[in-house]
Amino acid sequence: MGNGLICQVCGVEAPTRYVEFYQNIGALFMRFRRSIRGNLCKSCIHSKFWTMTSITLAVGWLGLISLIIAPIFIINNLSRYLTVLAMPRVPRGATRPQVNGQVAAQIQPLMPQIALRLQRHENAADIARELAPPGVTPGQVLVYLSMWQRQHAARAGAPAANVSRPDAATLPQPQPILLDSLMTPAKNPQSVFSSNTIGENQR
Ligand SMILES: [Zn+2]
Repeated sequence: MGNGLICQVCGVEAPTRYVEFYQNIGALFMRFRRSIRGNLCKSCIHSKFWTMTSITLAVGWLGLISLIIAPIFIINNLSRYLTVLAMPRVPRGATRPQVNGQVAAQIQPLMPQIALRLQRHENAADIARELAPPGVTPGQVLVYLSMWQRQHAARAGAPAANVSRPDAATLPQPQPILLDSLMTPAKNPQSVFSSNTIGENQR
């Protein structure tokens, strides 16, 4: 996974990198494992790395399997962290991209062009960077695309529980463009986290 535009943890528009961090809490006969995988901004990478690694360092090793797993997690976290250290910081004043009617009206005429490029499997973030009209950020283009995709999926009868419907008032009417199979699915921020409780004698 390459470099993205929107942090999957805080939702801010900033340079992101893909990371996987793991945390283990050993409790003699149980262990509690937590992981995070996704495209994160530098601030979130920094905070997740330090939190998850220091917890693993402090209480990650208590238990037979934990004794083996904790160092593996720590080495993984450290090596992932070191490879992204040179990434750009979160720009000053960075915010969560919002799409109102005015912004949507500027992006809508670009949709045929965007859809064509998505169909060629070009990276959505790269397309957004190149085609964002003046006054619209690439992050807003991505948010618009993902709203449109969800609206399209909802109309196509996708499971309602997984679809949060966009505010109809802020969106132009969807056109019958071939978007559903073309878009990289927008990840739900919650989906980057996972946690498990595992018996110490289980793998
Ligand atoms: Zn972030």
